Amino acid sequence: MEIEIIAVGGYDEVGRNMTAVRCGKEVIIFDMGLRLDQLMIHEDAEVDEMHPLDLITINAIPDDTILQKVEGTVKAIVCSHGHLDHIGAIPKLAHRYKAPIISTPYTTELISQQIRGEKKFGVNNKLVALSAGQRYTISPNLVLEFVRTQHSIIDTVTPVLHTPHGAIVYACDFKFDRTPVIGLPPDFARFRQIGKEGVLALIVESTYIHRPGRCPSERIARDLVRDVITSFEDDKNAIIVSTFSSHISRVKTIAECAYEIGRKPVFLGRSMQKYSVTAEQMKFVSFPETSSVFGERRTVDRVMRRMMKEGKEKFLPIVTGHQGEPGSILTRLAHGDIPYQLAKGDKVLFSANVIPNPMNVGNRYAIEHRLKMAGARIFTDLHVSGHAYREDHYEFIQMLQPQHIIPAHADLKMTAGYAEFAGDLGYTANSTVHPVRNGQRLRIN
Ligand SMILES: [Zn+2]
Repeated sequence: MEIEIIAVGGYDEVGRNMTAVRCGKEVIIFDMGLRLDQLMIHEDAEVDEMHPLDLITINAIPDDTILQKVEGTVKAIVCSHGHLDHIGAIPKLAHRYKAPIISTPYTTELISQQIRGEKKFGVNNKLVALSAGQRYTISPNLVLEFVRTQHSIIDTVTPVLHTPHGAIVYACDFKFDRTPVIGLPPDFARFRQIGKEGVLALIVESTYIHRPGRCPSERIARDLVRDVITSFEDDKNAIIVSTFSSHISRVKTIAECAYEIGRKPVFLGRSMQKYSVTAEQMKFVSFPETSSVFGERRTVDRVMRRMMKEGKEKFLPIVTGHQGEPGSILTRLAHGDIPYQLAKGDKVLFSANVIPNPMNVGNRYAIEHRLKMAGARIFTDLHVSGHAYREDHYEFIQMLQPQHIIPAHADLKMTAGYAEFAGDLGYTANSTVHPVRNGQRLRIN
């Protein structure tokens, strides 16, 4: 059986991830993601109503037209977790394939919400929820297994495709967190066992291969956030925290710290509402009972007005906008475009890094500047990453001992960096470690 890896998207950039694996005449797709910064550049883009070819033209979704030349039938679409750079293109592309979409329960719920929001296409693919630790038989030759891992969104797995020639491990994205805030650590025992059984190929994120050491645990982020928020126990000023709306562990930490200092956590913004309400309904998390959530713009404005009236010191708003995204709550606040006025001594906490692309850097600089002009005190970098660092990658390779490695989820500089790192471990570029570009096909047996 021929086995071929097809790099569809996410090999020339961080975002719009999509990889296809052909095993004989059967094709399995891993992830169908969206590249958010490309959409932000095209601000007038109405994604819900756009045609996939237009989105491909602006490099916002993977160019899956290359799969037309691949001889085989797509049997399954597998998503590793619910971030938009992994599931965001499903409403635009999945309907072209007669195949089920397989993902964990939380991811499946997010995908189903995405599909419901799509205005151009009816996406009727069957949605299959598979929990970590479970297996799904795709065909007599192919079995899919979800191995538990950790990342910056709950219910993330490492999908493993068992083929007659060995396992293909798709590790985008992951971190080796031994003390996570929600859920259990990665299933190291199972990874080691899969390594012993034989791994034909590891397709692996290489985003932070250049960072030395290990990615710190989410427990460290909890301590950083807690250290700052609890220091404000007698403060009468506003405390506003911005973080990733999909980062449920972090949102939970912030809400619990608010509760600890006697403030009501108020989750604000449409995406904040989407991820946290879904997580709570599915019993992945329970927030302090004093928490409340408001998504719609008009409701958000009303709540902001109420907080001004009742006293800023009674609440702790958790908001979107840490990248300075236009239209987000923090940006509107910085522009005075919301009925909540900042005063001298108010605190604004960023529990997020700046995602390093020029637009985010510029936007973030601009809002921080405006917040400071309004008298706010700024706290940045109350954050740890959700991605593996170099020594985590080293540990992973020791566990799996893969025959081939395909660095993914990165631009060429990062995948080449991974190839260099793997070179030190005995792999050879273009022979056993393969930095590839979007659109390239690779036979590995
Ligand atoms: Zn991710």
